[in-house]
Amino acid sequence: MTSNQPPPEKMMFQLALRRRGISDQTVLRTMEEVPRDLFVEASDRDAAYRDSALPIACGQTISQPFVVAYMTEQLQLQKSHRVLEIGAGSGYQAAVLSRLTREVLTVERYRKLADAARARLEKLDYHNVEVMLGDGLNLPPNIGPFDRIIVTAAVEQIPENLVERLEVGGILIAPVGPHQGVQTLTRLSRTEAGIERRELVEVRFVPALPGVAREL
Ligand code: SAH
Repeated sequence: MTSNQPPPEKMMFQLALRRRGISDQTVLRTMEEVPRDLFVEASDRDAAYRDSALPIACGQTISQPFVVAYMTEQLQLQKSHRVLEIGAGSGYQAAVLSRLTREVLTVERYRKLADAARARLEKLDYHNVEVMLGDGLNLPPNIGPFDRIIVTAAVEQIPENLVERLEVGGILIAPVGPHQGVQTLTRLSRTEAGIERRELVEVRFVPALPGVAREL
């Protein structure tokens, strides 16, 4: 093996994403570059490159790699974009986004998760990501607009106050459906003529809940 080939576990990781239909080379390369093992709990490091969601602090989860890659691909990111994420969790999705775009703002309702994600992203040199403690369902009016918005917690309906923050030409993607069970990944595109809505695949996310969490 030559020294510039990725380690076998990462090659398997790539293969699994390709098999499931991820074809954007830039997204695949970014998935290979971002060290998911440093975003999971230390006890789960061995499982970091399997295609499954894993538990993180505060009863939340880091999403399945396929879903991260798929949502990223569906966002059709460009280097000039400003992106908003609701649900920072571990910071992994934000790290992937940050490599493909200008600026990422990610919002998290648990202080413990927000602080850990911020520290981790800084340490790993993801300097174009800002982690904000707050309620992504009820953001102050001065935040935005954005070229892309990604919601990584399940919403029963797409919040109007997020749609309003989308630029013309913008794309929003969110898991829409009941808090318990299966949701449909839904993509909204804002055009000059209005909003186009497309339903993509079924997914399972932890629920988006209102307010900043009271626990630390
Ligand atoms: N994108 C994350 C995983 C998201 S899990 C990653 O890559 O690791 C969903 C996250 O959304 C959880 O951390 C949860 O606390 C957060 N969340 C739920 N409701 C929220 C809200 N209203 N505002 C901000 N974050 C919220």
